[in-house]
Amino acid sequence: MNRVYLDYNATTPVDPQVLDAMLPYFSADFANASSIHSPGQRARAAIETAREQVAALIGARPQEIVFTSGGTESDNHAIFGVTNSQVVQPILGVHSSSPTPQHIITATIEHEAVLNACQAAERQGVSVSYLPVDHEGRVDPKSVREVIRPETILITIMHANNELGTVQLLEEIGSIAKEHKIYFHTDAVQSAGKIPIDVKALNVDLLSLSGHKLYAPKGVGALYVRSGTRLRQLLYGGHHQRGHRPGTENVAGIVGLGGAAEIARNSLSSGAPRVSALRDQLEHGLFERIPQIRVNGGHAPRTPNTTNIQFAGIDGEAMVIALDLKGLACSVGAACSSGAVEPSHVLTAIGLSQEEAKSSLRFSLGHHTTQSEIDFALEVIPATVAQLRALSPTYRKEAASHV
Ligand code: PLP
Repeated sequence: MNRVYLDYNATTPVDPQVLDAMLPYFSADFANASSIHSPGQRARAAIETAREQVAALIGARPQEIVFTSGGTESDNHAIFGVTNSQVVQPILGVHSSSPTPQHIITATIEHEAVLNACQAAERQGVSVSYLPVDHEGRVDPKSVREVIRPETILITIMHANNELGTVQLLEEIGSIAKEHKIYFHTDAVQSAGKIPIDVKALNVDLLSLSGHKLYAPKGVGALYVRSGTRLRQLLYGGHHQRGHRPGTENVAGIVGLGGAAEIARNSLSSGAPRVSALRDQLEHGLFERIPQIRVNGGHAPRTPNTTNIQFAGIDGEAMVIALDLKGLACSVGAACSSGAVEPSHVLTAIGLSQEEAKSSLRFSLGHHTTQSEIDFALEVIPATVAQLRALSPTYRKEAASHV
């Protein structure tokens, strides 16, 4: 069967060049990068090259890059590293009240890696403001300024949203943070490799990256930590990564992340316009072929590869399954929340009703998406919508009421 993958925001395949670069570190060059013998030093050198490559992708200095196990760890490290709260919850009934009051500002459309970490910090006495977003999924920088308090210690607002692709006004938010001397973290897991990132222009102090959204493997990521940022360590152990992140380094994974960062940096200017042209073609084609659809967050600047479409009268999960049976992979909401009955928190945050949120699907394109795959999508999606709408009592009622 023809299989088309339009779920690159959930994860990407490892780039063949990245895989080739990684392979020796599983076998011939397997040494521990902390060992002082020459094989160990070769592993160390490979890690340091990767650090330079990752730094170059975001305009940072190599010593400002800490390798982690992925986006979730990087987000947690930023939040728990800046506040007095602990990643491990205190025993039930024992309140570890923070000696000084602390406040975090975040947004309702963040990934669970940020939202749930903030909620855990809240249970330990840190207060958190969850800023609302507009209909396109954007945080108004003015609203950030309005909730700043003397005890605000961290602003954490994502760069691009995983479900909508909406890109936030980070430069403005970053300069507000700088003006008030508040640490600014951004989750750039979904923007890295898709749009340019310059940590200095964005005024960020902390930035999270994840390998598997960037054509590197799963289980590796990075946290940018601006020099001078006071960040507590999340894990305790050896002295790896200058104490920031103990644990024997995942050399192959880190080499993969470095290689992927370099490819992303070199291909950004050619890859992004190609992918956005295909994404726009998909959107226009669907609009021509299907009545009563709309793009969620379609009026804001978005990452070039993402579109989130609402199909009136459709159950999103049923449609994902029907499309999968026809060979097209896409998703409802975030990958981690699929299977859950609750509608996406991002879609309800932009003002969609539960029903509208549940009738929305995300299509995310990638490096390997081709014209013929988009042609295939434009055949199967309209046919599937027509089939499901014919079976939908709510859609038939709606259609009848328009007659
Ligand atoms: N942040 C965002 C915006 C994401 O989309 C994801 C993954 O879906 C994560 C964080 C978590 O990253 P990881 O899967 O590397 O832990």
